[in-house]
Amino acid sequence: MATAKQELGKRGEQLIAKKCACPRCKRSQTLKLLPPNFKCADIICDFCGYLAQVKTQNVKDIQKPPKRVLSAAWKPQSERMAAGIYFPLFLVLINGKEIAVYYLPSDLQKPEIFKARKALSATAKRAGWQGYYYDFASVQNYFVRLI
Ligand SMILES: [Zn+2]
Repeated sequence: MATAKQELGKRGEQLIAKKCACPRCKRSQTLKLLPPNFKCADIICDFCGYLAQVKTQNVKDIQKPPKRVLSAAWKPQSERMAAGIYFPLFLVLINGKEIAVYYLPSDLQKPEIFKARKALSATAKRAGWQGYYYDFASVQNYFVRLI
């Protein structure tokens, strides 16, 4: 069974697929969900092959992107940055019935917005695993609100 966090993520991805046009080819209804275990991206355009990540967050204020948002595993992210690879990001903010969708293109992303967290302790279930969070403080004004 999916966790609440996975359900929230899926809800955001489904919203993007349903409501947002592809930022590259401008077609609608072409953004499709990738399988949950697909590592680098969450959605793909089945017309032009455009890839993007989707991050969904419950917040108190949907009027602007939060400064800090928890994300996934640090290792693949740091390896991608070392290779100069960034993916466009859709940020879905939810406060009850209120929803906002923001977009941050890959060319406006930079290493400083990806911050490593402390590795989990030896006694943790996933000992040694290290995550990262987005620090959007320096790019808050670069987000475009789509919905
Ligand atoms: Zn497309």
